[in-house]
Amino acid sequence: MEEGARSCLLQSRSSLEQDIRASYLMDHMISDGVLTGDEEDRIRSKPTRREQAAALLELLLRKDNQAYISFYNALVRESYGDLASLLHNSLPLVSPEAEKSFSDGGTRYVQAVLSEGGVPQRPVVFVSRPALVNRVREKLYRLQKEPGWVTVFGMAGSGKSVLAAEAVRDHALITECFPGGVHWLSIGQLDRADLLVRIQSLCFRLEQQSQEKDPSSSLHRPPGSLEEAKERLRFLMLRRYPRSLLILDDIWDSSVLRAFDIQCRVMLTTRDRSLADCVSGFKSEVAVESGLEEDQALEILALYVNRKPQRLPEQARSIVRECKGSPLVVSLIGALLREFPDRWAYYLHTLQQKKFKRIRKSSSYDYDALDQAMAASIQVLSEEHRELYIDLTVLEKDVKVPAKVLSVLWDLEPEEVEDVLQDFVNKSLLFRDCHHRPYLYYLHDLQLDFLAEMNRSDLESLHTKVVRQYQQRYSQGPPTSGDEECLYWFRFLTYHMAKANLTQEMV
Ligand code: ADP
Repeated sequence: MEEGARSCLLQSRSSLEQDIRASYLMDHMISDGVLTGDEEDRIRSKPTRREQAAALLELLLRKDNQAYISFYNALVRESYGDLASLLHNSLPLVSPEAEKSFSDGGTRYVQAVLSEGGVPQRPVVFVSRPALVNRVREKLYRLQKEPGWVTVFGMAGSGKSVLAAEAVRDHALITECFPGGVHWLSIGQLDRADLLVRIQSLCFRLEQQSQEKDPSSSLHRPPGSLEEAKERLRFLMLRRYPRSLLILDDIWDSSVLRAFDIQCRVMLTTRDRSLADCVSGFKSEVAVESGLEEDQALEILALYVNRKPQRLPEQARSIVRECKGSPLVVSLIGALLREFPDRWAYYLHTLQQKKFKRIRKSSSYDYDALDQAMAASIQVLSEEHRELYIDLTVLEKDVKVPAKVLSVLWDLEPEEVEDVLQDFVNKSLLFRDCHHRPYLYYLHDLQLDFLAEMNRSDLESLHTKVVRQYQQRYSQGPPTSGDEECLYWFRFLTYHMAKANLTQEMV
């Protein structure tokens, strides 16, 4: 292995050891021919996950460039995108195709800026939509000289958030237009109190970063009202972060937008094209088609099953047509096919059946394909995992949870929870936000809609389960650690109690 790659592995060793599951990665490395069955057995014989990880790294350090590349690709495939990015810059030799599908595009500088601003990484399997990305970039360039708004609008699941993140993954754009940085804020459906919390945490993040750069600047107490929050943000954007871009992801309500009407540069994603009508300043918009082009959707399927698009079976096109190229649905089906490569006809048939109809549709968009794909993905879970997945029905939209919350809900050891979550992530049934340590997990809105419809009659008992599990774990008193898990219970325990009809227990 060349020197740069080895040095990078050594430097990243402790992060890798801390997080990876060697058993998942070794399957890929064996099929790439860089690891033998004997070596795998030796690593598997280590008693703990961490020791297995350490043994795999030790072995890898003695291997060649191909092994490094295979290990990198295995990380990407197993959704360890953040760890893969640690190794990316030292990849010894990557074929142009792999570079196109897996690398993160941007330079080290871009990666640092986006990671600091909380901009999500590319999904594990990703295809570029160059025409759309260029259209968004072109609109963003118009914010170079003056503040204003860029609205990226389209149907749920059409890939708006992925597109918004991709558009800013560009060195020239950031240095020329947004040298003050790019700051991502997930919004979703929320009330005024939640909006205040979101802006408070944004202000805190901005103040903290600016204090790191300039220790003489002070941290303030959090703004107490929305009006105060708006003023604080205005001050921060004007004085400390001039020429920066705020990305507001998934806005539903124009009143939310008014809180950001502070003469700064904003890109928003939304399903509602007219939202920006209520705010002042220069505005432009980009429409996102609800589905991918056929070739792009086929490329996603091809990446999942590790074949060239031309070599996909004839059913592939029909699958894409059946789900109208929806990126979310294609990803779900692709993940299924990765696991069951012989089931092309079967999944096409499943999509065509439309037997799983929802009673109520949340908008005019035809979600039938999503329903079929979700039902199929849930069906291939083991019975035990299926029950655990159904428990996720109770999560609030746009809320990301740490594994510890799920360990309470499921009453499982952290390692077991990790295994379950990895299974869901691999099947695109759940998404992982790698910007946080510990990782946070969330579902797409449409997936939560699906679960809520599927489990309509059990909602009360599912929420009751959350409350009871919490009470059982914390029978001696509530958690006091102040970590993400603790914050979750602080914010949502009463919500679950209300939904479980247990409000009398609140007093
Ligand atoms: P929206 O914001 O419009 O609701 P997202 O951007 O969250 O949609 O995309 C939904 C899902 O579709 C993603 O989680 C990902 O699995 C898939 N997806 C979207 N865009 C792409 C893309 N360019 N390449 C691969 N998968 C994509």
